[in-house]
Amino acid sequence: MVYPEPIAKLIEGLMKLPGIGPKTAGRLAFYVLSMDEEDVLDLAKALVNAKRQLRHCSVCQNITDVDPCRICRDPKRDRSVICVVQDPKDVVAMEKTHEFHGLYHVLHGALSPMDGVGPDDLRIAELLERLKTEPVQEVILATNPTIEGEATAMYLARLIKPAGIRVTRIAHGLPVGGDLEYADEVTLTKALEGRREL
Ligand SMILES: [Zn+2]
Repeated sequence: MVYPEPIAKLIEGLMKLPGIGPKTAGRLAFYVLSMDEEDVLDLAKALVNAKRQLRHCSVCQNITDVDPCRICRDPKRDRSVICVVQDPKDVVAMEKTHEFHGLYHVLHGALSPMDGVGPDDLRIAELLERLKTEPVQEVILATNPTIEGEATAMYLARLIKPAGIRVTRIAHGLPVGGDLEYADEVTLTKALEGRREL
């Protein structure tokens, strides 16, 4: 079936989102048509604003609408500890535990030679620069418990330890192969408490 141009365009746009095939895109597109115009405009505005107003924090590389981000500029945070995570969503997961009061560093991925992701593709240089200029005493490696996450943690430990900074890895107990963002708060708190020296 050939759709009128505007809806074909909408379906095409939705299909660029992960996990949205033609069938789902079609269903969503027709749902949008049935929505109130005001709600559709709000959704369109939210999409544009999210893209235009968010950037990476120049300190921790997390996504933010102010630079430095609210966590980096919070005077109550412990600046001697940096928790290194793969994705912005992991910061949200960690913050939900209310157990971590240090700063973060977001790598935006993990080392994966198979997928062509090397150290230069991650925010590793930015992390090393912070360790030179900030009063950091401990780096907690909270990359995911996957092969890529473990390899990234090992790689970072080798780089950071010679500087005399304590390097720890969050405990397992997180489901192996799982993402940090899907761990519940209790599991994540335990993983943080049970972190071991590398
Ligand atoms: Zn920040």
